[in-house]
Amino acid sequence: MRTPFVAGNWKMHNDLAAARDLMKGLRAEVAKPTGVDVAVCTPFTLLYPMGKELDGTDIKLGAQNCYFEPKGAFTGEISADMLKAAGCTYVIIGHSERRHVFGETGEMLKKKVVAAQQAGLHVIYCIGELLEERERGKTETVVDQQMKEVLTPDLDTSLLTIAYEPVWAIGTGKTATPDQAQAVHAFVRAKLSGIYGSDVANSLRIQYGGSVKPGNAAELFSCPDVDGGLVGGACLVAGDFAAIIRAAQQSAGK
Ligand code: PEP
Repeated sequence: MRTPFVAGNWKMHNDLAAARDLMKGLRAEVAKPTGVDVAVCTPFTLLYPMGKELDGTDIKLGAQNCYFEPKGAFTGEISADMLKAAGCTYVIIGHSERRHVFGETGEMLKKKVVAAQQAGLHVIYCIGELLEERERGKTETVVDQQMKEVLTPDLDTSLLTIAYEPVWAIGTGKTATPDQAQAVHAFVRAKLSGIYGSDVANSLRIQYGGSVKPGNAAELFSCPDVDGGLVGGACLVAGDFAAIIRAAQQSAGK
């Protein structure tokens, strides 16, 4: 039985005052969620103060990226150890915006995942196809490639979650249908089984991401291979994020 996992990706949003307000709202709604794991992934500058805001709750802190080198002359970068020291439990690696806006390659992402796990961080590794790739029937080829490049047998699967995020659904208001999401999640789990064996594959969480909202979360999370979500826009509103967390709670034990 997999515990559903909901993570909020704040992207480059919120100043300190807005972030504190959002956390206050979240604490009021779901300070100690049961039957679901919850994380908020903030911009780097907000990690330390948001960690303090989360003290006394069961909501964990995450970052949205890290660099693969432990230290050195890498102006503007943040190491995995620095994230750990700032209070992070999680880090998102391979978000489509990192791949497609910042040009991160599979080779870089592999190094980031290894560095993050070595620092003791749990990695949320994102995969997903572009609209034209889906239209050309290439969805499975693309996600398979993104998995092969990074998900090698040496990784620590106890520090790994996969997020399937079709790029055409991120921030667009277009969501994959539950059938579309389930089909890719089942494919991803079958591939995980090939790498790690079926016991591990059945224990790994695969989040869905792409315009998850309070109105569509329950249906998506009820799919057998969808284990919660990675949530962008809707996590910036405490009531909406809380409603999505509750939808995941209700999907537990499906
Ligand atoms: C994301 O940022 O990973 C995401 C899925 O965003 P949104 O929910 O806004 O589509």
